[in-house]
Amino acid sequence: MAINHRHAPFIFSLLAVLFASAMFSSRAQTVPDTRQRIVGQTPTPTLMPMPTPAPTPAPIVPGARQQTTMPVVVLPAVILTPGAAFNAAQQNGHLKFNLDWTFGGRAQRGWYLYTALINRETGTETSAGTPEFALAIARWQQANSFMPTGILDSETWYQMIAVWQSRRIKEEDRGEAVPWQLLTAPITDFYDPTRAPELLKVEKQTYAAYKRMVAAAAQDSALKLMVASNGEVSVTEKYLKIVSSFRSKDYQAQLRRQSPNAGRAGLAIKSPHFTGRALDLYVGGDPTDTHDFNRSIQVNTPVYKWLVKNAARFGFYPYYYEPWHWEYIPGILHVNSSPPTVIVAPRN
Ligand SMILES: [Zn+2]
Repeated sequence: MAINHRHAPFIFSLLAVLFASAMFSSRAQTVPDTRQRIVGQTPTPTLMPMPTPAPTPAPIVPGARQQTTMPVVVLPAVILTPGAAFNAAQQNGHLKFNLDWTFGGRAQRGWYLYTALINRETGTETSAGTPEFALAIARWQQANSFMPTGILDSETWYQMIAVWQSRRIKEEDRGEAVPWQLLTAPITDFYDPTRAPELLKVEKQTYAAYKRMVAAAAQDSALKLMVASNGEVSVTEKYLKIVSSFRSKDYQAQLRRQSPNAGRAGLAIKSPHFTGRALDLYVGGDPTDTHDFNRSIQVNTPVYKWLVKNAARFGFYPYYYEPWHWEYIPGILHVNSSPPTVIVAPRN
């Protein structure tokens, strides 16, 4: 192509503008409706744009280029500027331990107990005080129709919780399982080897999915689970053993009488455990203690982190507040379409 010296300064300026524009845009896009594309996007490791690939090999003619490669015009605020990301990172580093919020009528502080879930939700592996984490939050905010500030503030945090809570067994579906839906699992699957025989029941499909999931965990050497010669998790291994499964309404009422002031959602009047499809699994620490200190131990175990990343493959979804509580909801991505954020939220 012919570029003479008279044109060169102008062309250089145009390229500089395009390059700078790319810094404020996650990638070249010329289609206004970008929600789904943005959702699946992997955060770039740095804030600098990759200089390749060139948008098109078209001749350097200003008019022609404007029609095909001016992405920022149609993609405002897709991503944070480096300065905004840096500022958001600083705020997130503070809010991680200091955001005041409430759950179940109780005051809560910070979201540091949930960073594994947040990372999973937003598709990042980075830590909360980094610009990359802020970028991931910004993308999630945008996918959920929030202003993409990159700051995990209370508004964004409550929305994220709402999305997680929408992926649970709905209250109206928490009826008590009927006998033919249940099986009695071997005592070796349970955390407490002295557990009473009537407390070993699990919904049949849930149990099959649980066994598939534990078998996969046994194969993951990074978890360092004790594995028996048959490839299953060994009888003496405590991790991933069932702490509690099906509970009848009578048994739940009995538990509530024994500890009427217990604030545990596990003692809810409409417990998902009635269905036999909710499992409390051992993930470390005290098995089912909601104190922050105990949960801070649990959410940092390799087994818990593995569950966060892998359980959905087997149909299990977390109750965010109780690291041990997982609910079997097969096909959630296809059948549970309310609220719509379930569909558009990133799932990796
Ligand atoms: Zn539970």
